[in-house]
Amino acid sequence: MAKLPIITAPDPRLKIKARPVPAVDAEIRQLMDDMMETMYAAIGVGLAAPQVGKSSRVIVLDVAREGEKPQPLKLANPEIISRSPELTTGNEGCLSLPEHYAEVTRPEKIRLRYLDYQNEIREMEASGLLATCLQHEIDHLDGILFVDHLSSLKRGMILRKLAKAKRGEALATA
Ligand SMILES: [Zn+2]
Repeated sequence: MAKLPIITAPDPRLKIKARPVPAVDAEIRQLMDDMMETMYAAIGVGLAAPQVGKSSRVIVLDVAREGEKPQPLKLANPEIISRSPELTTGNEGCLSLPEHYAEVTRPEKIRLRYLDYQNEIREMEASGLLATCLQHEIDHLDGILFVDHLSSLKRGMILRKLAKAKRGEALATA
């Protein structure tokens, strides 16, 4: 397994719609394993392939809290097939928008269809934190970041700060 570099916003690669994977083969399994290692190393609860520069519809998650048994999930071509009318608001962050958090409102429960690690078609229901994370990661596959759910004022503020931080980094390493 290998740790992959995580792309941070603003970056055009985070705005592209990712391609479906034809099948979960050895190459996709490798990508899933590398993404999981990258996510754990970054202390994240989810990661989508576009965040490591791969235009593939692949996400990994683990919403287990510290001290709980790990619950790694590796999904390809996830598709939300139903959403509850009930909404929930959670404080979201993102490994591609480091150090920024905001309240985002989304459906509280979802039903999902996906390909698992064995290339089997599966369905699952999710609620609470898992449902929120799944929707956040699936958004990434469509080039949507959590800030895209905010007002343009808030989004602009966060993206300007990130762009400024990036310029600072570039100067420091120049
Ligand atoms: Zn994210």
